[in-house]
This record gives sequence, C-alpha cells and structure tokens, in this order.
Amino acid sequence: MRDPNDTRNTGPRVGSPLWIHLTSVIIAGSVVFVLAMTRVTGLTSWVDSAGHSHPGLVCMPVFWVLAAMAILGQAWPIITPGRSGAESPVASVTFCFAALLHWGLAVAVLLRAGSTLVVFVVQRKAVHRALFNAAQATLSVTAAAAVLMAFGFMPSPMHPWVPSGRDLPVVLLAGFGYFIVNFVVVGVAIALHNRVLVLRSLRAALPYQGLVSTVLLATAPLVTVVMAKDSALLLLLFLFPLAAIYINAAISVQREHQAHHDELTGLANRKLLLRRTTEALAQADMNGGNVGFLLLDLDRGLKEVNDTLGHAVGDRLLQNVAHRLTHSVRPGDLVARLGGDEFAVLLPSVKEPAAAREVAARLRAAVAEPIRLEQLSFVIEVSIGIAMFPDDATSADLLMQRADMAMYLAKQHRTGAERYQADLDRNSPARLALQAELRRGLDRGELELHYQPKVYLCDGQTAGMEALVRWQHPERGMQVPEKFLPVLEQSYLMRELTSFVVDSALAQAAKWHADGMPVQISLNVSGRDLLGNALVQTIAAGLQAHRVPPEALLLEIDERVLTSEPAHAAATAEALTSIGVRLSLDDFGTGYSSLARLQRLPISEVKIDSSFVGRLLTSPDDEVIVKSIVDLAAALGIRSVAEGVESAEVAAALQAMGCASAQGWHFSRPLNAASATAWLREHRVAERAAAHRGAGANRPAVP
Ligand code: C2E
Ligand code: CA
Ligand code: CA
Repeated sequence: MRDPNDTRNTGPRVGSPLWIHLTSVIIAGSVVFVLAMTRVTGLTSWVDSAGHSHPGLVCMPVFWVLAAMAILGQAWPIITPGRSGAESPVASVTFCFAALLHWGLAVAVLLRAGSTLVVFVVQRKAVHRALFNAAQATLSVTAAAAVLMAFGFMPSPMHPWVPSGRDLPVVLLAGFGYFIVNFVVVGVAIALHNRVLVLRSLRAALPYQGLVSTVLLATAPLVTVVMAKDSALLLLLFLFPLAAIYINAAISVQREHQAHHDELTGLANRKLLLRRTTEALAQADMNGGNVGFLLLDLDRGLKEVNDTLGHAVGDRLLQNVAHRLTHSVRPGDLVARLGGDEFAVLLPSVKEPAAAREVAARLRAAVAEPIRLEQLSFVIEVSIGIAMFPDDATSADLLMQRADMAMYLAKQHRTGAERYQADLDRNSPARLALQAELRRGLDRGELELHYQPKVYLCDGQTAGMEALVRWQHPERGMQVPEKFLPVLEQSYLMRELTSFVVDSALAQAAKWHADGMPVQISLNVSGRDLLGNALVQTIAAGLQAHRVPPEALLLEIDERVLTSEPAHAAATAEALTSIGVRLSLDDFGTGYSSLARLQRLPISEVKIDSSFVGRLLTSPDDEVIVKSIVDLAAALGIRSVAEGVESAEVAAALQAMGCASAQGWHFSRPLNAASATAWLREHRVAERAAAHRGAGANRPAVP
C-alpha cells in the first residue's frame, strides 16, 4: 500500500535485497555525481578562445527559471493511478532533460540531484530516501548523456546545443535511456519494498509510466529552443501543458481509486484485495513464504449505533474502525472493506501462523478500544477468521473462503479469532468445484428468481409472491436450490447470493408496484444470513435504492434457524423489524417452537410446513397439528399460510379449518418473472394483503 516516501522513516533491514539495491544505487549515483561535478564549467563565467569573458549560467534568468521549475516539478509529483508516490513521474524531468540537451551532463546532474535534495530537505524526508532519489536521478541523466555522447553530442554552457529535426532520433534514444534507467531502478525498489514480484510490478507500471515519461521527455527539445532565445518568460509558458498533465493524472487517479477502493472508508475493495492476494501468493510461492489472510466481522456495535444514532454516525464508526485497522498493520499489509461491517487484512509475508494470530489479537485490541461518538462511548467487538497460505489454501478464492469458515467458527464459539481447521471443513473437492462454478454463475448472471403466488383461500386473490432462486446452468440446465444451496450455506458466497436475491426481488417488486400491482414479496434467508449485520444493511440499502416501502417485503426465516441460533437470529430479526420489514416463520412445525417463543418474536406470518399439509387428509395426527397451528396463529393475530397445497381437496380442508391462505402447485408452480407478471394481471392483488401486512407490526419486540 505504502511507498518508500511516506512510511515511517526507518530504513530497510541491513543486508536485505532492498537494502542492497538502495545502497548500490546510492554508491553508483554518488560516484557519477562527484565525477560530473568536477567537470562543471561555465557556471559563474567563462572565457572564449579569443580571450573574451562571458557571464556564466548563474547570470542568466533562464537558468534560474529552469531551476525553479525543476524544484517545483520535483516537489509536486504527478501521481500515478494505482501506484505509490515514489514511482510518480516528476515534471522536473522535462527541465533537467532540456538542461542536458542544452548545457550538458554536469548542469543537468546538478539540477536533477539538486532539486531532489532541496525538496527532500524542505519536506524532511528520511536521509536514505533522499540519497536514493538523488542517486537514481543522477544515473538516469547520465544514461541519457551517454547516449548523446555515443553520437558525438557533448553540449556545455559554452557550447549550448539546440537539437534540430535531424537530431530527433538521437534525442529520442537519449530520452529512452533516461526512462529505462529511471523506471527500472525505482521500480525494483518499489517492488522489493512492497514485497511483490519485480517483473510483474514493472509490467503493471509500464504503460502509464511510459506514457507520462514520453510526454515529459518529448517536451524537453522544445524547451531548449526557448532556452536558446534566453527568454525566461517564454519558458514559463510550459507551465500550461504541464498543468494539463497534472489535471489529467489527477482525474485518472481518482477514477482508478474509485474502482479499487471503498467509498466510505477509502480502504481497498474486494477487487483490489483479490488482486493483491493473488500477487502475494505468487510471490510467496516463489520464495517459500507464508501469506496470512484475515477476515473480520463486527459482532455488535454497528447495529447499536445505526439504531440509536442513525446511519451517518454508523458510517463514522466504520471509518473509525477502518482507521484503527490500517494503523495496526505493517506497511505492505493490505486492509480492505468487503462491504457492510466486513473487513479483510492481507499479510503478504508472515513468518508463521502464530504471527498471523498475533496480528489478529492486535487488530481485535485496536478495535476494542471504546469509540466515542456523539458523547457516547461504544465498544466494538470483532470476530476474525485466519487462513494461511500454503497450509490452509493455495488460491486466493479458497484462502478467502477458509478464512470465512474460520470466522464463522470464531463467531459461533465466541472466541474472537480462529484459525481455519481442516477437520471441521466438510467441503469435499466436489463441493469446492461446485462453489467455484457457482461463483462464476453469479458473476455471469446465471442465477434468477422465480415467483410462486400465495393466495387467500376464501377468494383466490393474491396474498403475495415468494421469490425462489434458480440457477440456469449452462450444461446441466435449470437447477433447483437443493442442488446448490447446501453447498453455499457454509461459504461466503451465501452472502453474495442473498444480496443478489434481495436486489433482484426488490427490483421486481418496484416494477410490480409501479405497474399498479402492489404485491408483497417474500424472500428466503438462510441461517448464515442471520449471523451478521450484513443482511440488514443489504436490505435497507436495497429498499432505498429501489424505492420500495419496507412493508412490501416479507422475510421467510426457517423456524429451525431461530431455535438453533436464538441470540444472533433474534437480534437480526429485531433489527429487520426495526426498519419496517415483516418476518415470516418458514417450515413451521419442524422446529418445535413453543408458543412463548412465537409470542416474543416480531412475526407477521407462519408458513405451515408442507409435510403436515401433504398428509392432512390421510393422517389424523397431522390434521390436529395443522389445526392447532392455524388456531394458534389466529389467536396471536398472525397470518397462517399452508405450504405445498397440491389439490383442491386439501385447499378446501384448510379453508374449513380457518386457514387464511395457501401456496402450492394446486394454485401455481413457481413462475419466471414474465409468467408471474401475467399471473398478477389475471389475479387481483388482495387489498387485504395490505391490511394483513400490518399484522404483527405492533407485537412487542424481543426484550
Ligand atoms: P421453501 O422456502 O420451503 O420453499 C418452498 C419449496 O416448495 C419451493 O422449492 C417450491 O418450489 C416448493 N413447492 C411449492 N409448492 C409445492 C407443492 O405444491 N408441492 C411440492 N412438492 N413442492 C412445492 P424450491 O424452489 O426448490 O426451494 C427449496 C428451498 O430452497 C426453499 O424452501 C427455501 O428454503 C430455499 N430457497 C429457495 N430460494 C431461496 C433463496 O433465494 N434464498 C435462500 N436462502 N433460500 C432459498
Ligand atoms: Ca420459503
Ligand atoms: Ca417452506
């Protein structure tokens, strides 16, 4: 993340490759510098062969303007997209290259190294960095001078040179020499500092660096023409094209930054994280190192803040956490925000797993310090999952997934941080392959939602639509959820599927509402979704983005999830109702919920599991169960829906029992969006649905 210019002022470890590189460049640069300085002539005055004395460079305003522009250009680098400051091209290159062409090596070195040192002294940068930059600048100028010399050009203050059109090839070659030395010497230093592959990093930097350097160097011969005119004022006009370069660079940096960073916190986003992880794995693979991957999820705190102080303050809290995380890692480590309250930290080089655990402990401690917002103090807890390369996983995707699994363990066991444990991992190679396929499927838009109507038994009017996910597999055709959901439940992909489902369903709901069919949409959420705060945020954001009223959304939560994960699930359920979303208890009857639990939860609907409904006519036991659920729901003011109704007889029996609504093949199979729209056109959306939506809204929340 950081570059040699803006990190702490400590030098590299003595003997490390970076140290060797910096030291050799500094030594070579110093030798050349001293040699060049011994040959400085014509600075103050000079005498020609006829014995006439001439004023030297220091008497010429052009020299001073050039020097001033070199220093200014050095102080204000042209920031490069996606790169660190140390690699940034500087506009002083134009003026120093012009000085080289016009007045020769000695003056150019003096200007180039001089401006570098002046800027470093003024900005109080570390000595070794100042020396390195001055040395590499000296070497680059020398490379260009060597090219000129090879073609017999040796300008000096006494014999200034203005290249003509014929000289263009030589000038271009000299410029190329300058660029290559500068690019490689600095690029290697950056790559070593960031602990990334040298070649890969150079290749990535080349297009932009090459482009900007070409513009800067190609301007130099024009500058010499003005210098020959001895017009300091005309020289100032070059500030305009340079300003254009600065503005252009600033815009592309901004764009690049937006594409790779999280807007709220400025941290890296998932895309950048994955790219850096892949690079780190390649590097570690080459030199036998370990890579640590930490996945962080806030346990509580954010919700509390969002609820009590609003989302603006919640955002500040996230920024605060982001700040603490960035300041708890070393330079070269990468902190990313994956969305919601989920963060990740990449440790591109760790000695051993114990070191990654230490980092996790440090991060936890940093976040745990109470945060003061609006005169209130909040304590944030975070669960961290750790996965290591190469022990736990050998690809970026897998590393992320295993860190996620470890994080899930840390949350469940409330241990704070957990390392991935292979023996707890039920993912076989086949499951992993399916996950990879699904990941691609999600990216390629192979997943879609079908909708199954829910109807009122008394008049057949539409009570709602349940969104059911389908996967249009390119080879295997349409896949129902049971073919792929179980594989997802354990993985971080579940969250992505849920966001997809939320987003598509809300988009559809918005369309239906706009077309005068204000139908309530049900979504299924998994137990996994209820563990974090991400779901609430995804839904709140989706409702806002699609301008759908929260009452138009019903979330179906499996009854068993509520019974097995009571604390987490109840908290999320409460958060959901607090933003106005209704809840439905899915597969009711399978989880042995007690009457007491039903009363405590903010529920609007129960869905009687299809296993009881299917045996309604044949098994007296099941008939009793269904009847008692219907009565219970009626007593609590909750709508009951019978699932899996396949025949008119069952529908009639349910109606006779007082069951309000039903869903099943008897009414309609799940339909794709177009058919579901046609269904809605034919079947009125019940007015009553709106009234029923209110049911459960004023029930007491979980204390
Ligand atoms: P569910 O929520 O209990 O959904 C009802 C399932 O019963 C659906 O299966 C539906 O197609 C099927 N069904 C509807 N009427 C009848 C009928 O009359 N007879 C029979 N035999 N079956 C009927 P589907 O679409 O395969 O979904 C299976 C389960 O997958 C769902 O059970 C739900 O738990 C889960 N699921 C579906 N979509 C999503 C989703 O977007 N997210 C999550 N987290 N889970 C989903
Ligand atoms: Ca359901
Ligand atoms: Ca169900």
